[in-house]
Amino acid sequence: MIGEKCGVFAAKCLDGGEVFSNLYWGIVAQNHRGHESYGFLTYSDGFRRYVDLGLVPRIEREEFLRWKILLPGSVGIAHVRYGTSGKRDLYSHLRDAQPIVSVRGKKRMGIAYNGNLVNVGWLKEEVMSKGAKLRTTSDTELLSRYLLEKSEKGLIEGIRACMENVEGAFSVVGLDSNGSMFAFRDPLGMRPLLYGNKGSLMAVSSESVGLNINEISAISEVEPGEAIIFGESVERVRLIKRGRRAFCGFEFSYFMRPDSVTNGRFIYKIREELGRRLGRRYQEFVKRADLIVSIPETADDAAYGLHEETGIRWERMLRRHRFVTHRAFIMDPAERVSTIDRKINVLNGNLQGKRVIVVEDSIVRGDTTKTVIKKLRESGAEKVYVFVTFPRITHPCFYGIDMATFSELIGFFYDENGIAEKIGADAVCYQTLEDFVDATGMRMGDLCMACTTGVYPTELAQKIADRAKTRIEVKGSGRIYESAEV
Ligand code: SF4
Repeated sequence: MIGEKCGVFAAKCLDGGEVFSNLYWGIVAQNHRGHESYGFLTYSDGFRRYVDLGLVPRIEREEFLRWKILLPGSVGIAHVRYGTSGKRDLYSHLRDAQPIVSVRGKKRMGIAYNGNLVNVGWLKEEVMSKGAKLRTTSDTELLSRYLLEKSEKGLIEGIRACMENVEGAFSVVGLDSNGSMFAFRDPLGMRPLLYGNKGSLMAVSSESVGLNINEISAISEVEPGEAIIFGESVERVRLIKRGRRAFCGFEFSYFMRPDSVTNGRFIYKIREELGRRLGRRYQEFVKRADLIVSIPETADDAAYGLHEETGIRWERMLRRHRFVTHRAFIMDPAERVSTIDRKINVLNGNLQGKRVIVVEDSIVRGDTTKTVIKKLRESGAEKVYVFVTFPRITHPCFYGIDMATFSELIGFFYDENGIAEKIGADAVCYQTLEDFVDATGMRMGDLCMACTTGVYPTELAQKIADRAKTRIEVKGSGRIYESAEV
């Protein structure tokens, strides 16, 4: 398991109604995409912003009025964050919480985004050369500054400049000085972004669940390279067409909610298929196994698919503590292991002499799987075979997932047998790349699978990875590619 990324939501009530409730429900539905901080920005005769640390709070019906007074207006954006750039102490988390507003003279630009920028060095020099004084350590401020600078000739031109010159993954929602709402997505469409409307309500969301909870069912994708401006009317402009996409494959295995829909398919259906394919491919272990268990909750649907395919009993033996939501990512390795230990409970079923298939969504550092296997062994399991729905992660991600260095990836250093030995399993069986791509229903050429293939969809990321591979560094407070001098 690794940390989630970010989720965004934006809404505008054309009838002038208060938008806060829509923003709230839209972002609560996506809290799985970021636990570190949350924030709202609305517009009513100027910007109103509220950010805080942790999960989006539970707001009771009678409290909504107070929030609506705090965040008035009929248009706004919201964000949940799991930072993959910037510093990681609590003060920095709060300072970097989104939405972020940049100011230049009388101009304002407020944005919230999901993704990660690759050419941050260039971008930083670019905005600093224009005299900007940065208040945060996150990519978001750089992007909003750059957008503000480049929007002198209009917002569309500013967005075009971002798409042409900024490398990375970015699904953005924002408000300009006049309170006009906008949204845009990088030319490769690496992170999800959807647009929907119902009556007078217009909304943009990372996942369909943010729209569904607002009873919006007419949903379309914000196309890669597309900008949508919600002014007097809705203006949709495809600014850049690349002829291919690079949608993050990891969204299918891990990030998205199972009840989210992408390309017309529920994520849980895709995960079931991933489980079925593992069952068909690794018959030798299926034949020997007595029981299937899954690491909750992202592997549960795949475990069900595997159970359907093989007829082997799926026992819900591993349970996640619902209210232990502490994030392992800000802790040192020893603390991380004990936090994982607290989060997942192995029910004391009778495992004596049993051969168990453990279904896992992915193996990044190996800590979670190792801890679970240890607990299963203590409960008497004789053999443990790990089935992984996502192919072996061998390369870092520079697009917003918390695995930005080779040195933290167990799959970079070891093959299946080596990993099995390290985590205490009898075998580790990965989804093949072909099976994974087939199960998603997408073409290989429209997916990013760089963390498993080492082939990156953008130029600088490829250079950084190639160079960093020869200069493995222990991850510090900075990103490896910033020290790779590319
Ligand atoms: S490198 Fe991996 S995690 Fe990162 S965007 Fe590509 S598929 Fe997703």
